[in-house]
Amino acid sequence: MVNDIAGNIRTVLEFYKELGFDRLPIEISSGVQGTTLNSKPLTQNSSIDKEAALYALRAEIGDCRRCKLSNGRTNIVFGEGNANASIMFIGEAPGEDEDIQARPFVGEAGEILTSLIGNMGKASGSNFTREDVYIANIVKCRPPANQDPREDEIAACLPFLERQIEIIAPGVIMALGKTASHTLMGSETPLAKFSIVKARGHFFEYKGIPVMPTFHPAYFLRNRKDKPLTWTDAQAVLKRLEEAR
Ligand code: SF4
Repeated sequence: MVNDIAGNIRTVLEFYKELGFDRLPIEISSGVQGTTLNSKPLTQNSSIDKEAALYALRAEIGDCRRCKLSNGRTNIVFGEGNANASIMFIGEAPGEDEDIQARPFVGEAGEILTSLIGNMGKASGSNFTREDVYIANIVKCRPPANQDPREDEIAACLPFLERQIEIIAPGVIMALGKTASHTLMGSETPLAKFSIVKARGHFFEYKGIPVMPTFHPAYFLRNRKDKPLTWTDAQAVLKRLEEAR
């Protein structure tokens, strides 16, 4: 336990060093007003704190072997984006391109997601892009032959995603596809009987965060005619964010 804590502290210190800090950028709350260790005091939930927490989490995952998906993967796909994002997009699992590049949604389906995010940015008037949101998956290693991740694999990996969501604390989540929606919803319906067609378009809550289930971008590689449905879901997400401001 003590070694774990020391390891995590070391990781965070290394993170700050990489960012160019030579002293810890924290405020001392000792009652001595205005005392800081340097000129960059941070609030508890600043973007840099979140980045440090995500960095420490990635270090904790390490060369994870907690489930069988580790056997066939090339890389762990942790997730990427803005640690202070208002919107998180959560898919199911890395595919072949993601496994090779260690990045989520970089293949053909990734292009569709990137385009959706860009269009949402334009529609919102703030022109946010892929770099301004956070993208992750339910499991961080590629399932063999792109199968759905199994229940035990989801159970092993989900705590990492839960902590990412807790750190980022987005205003809203878009769950991409059946597995992501079913998992975040905590649905008791067996996955095989869960219908994303029925679930999409209706918000549910995950630990107080509104979640919009919608189709996985890969679905549109074969069903382009349904794209407007996801755009309707995306507009509802933007409206919910606007209302929360
Ligand atoms: S899928 Fe998650 S739990 Fe399984 S080996 Fe990869 S990182 Fe670990």
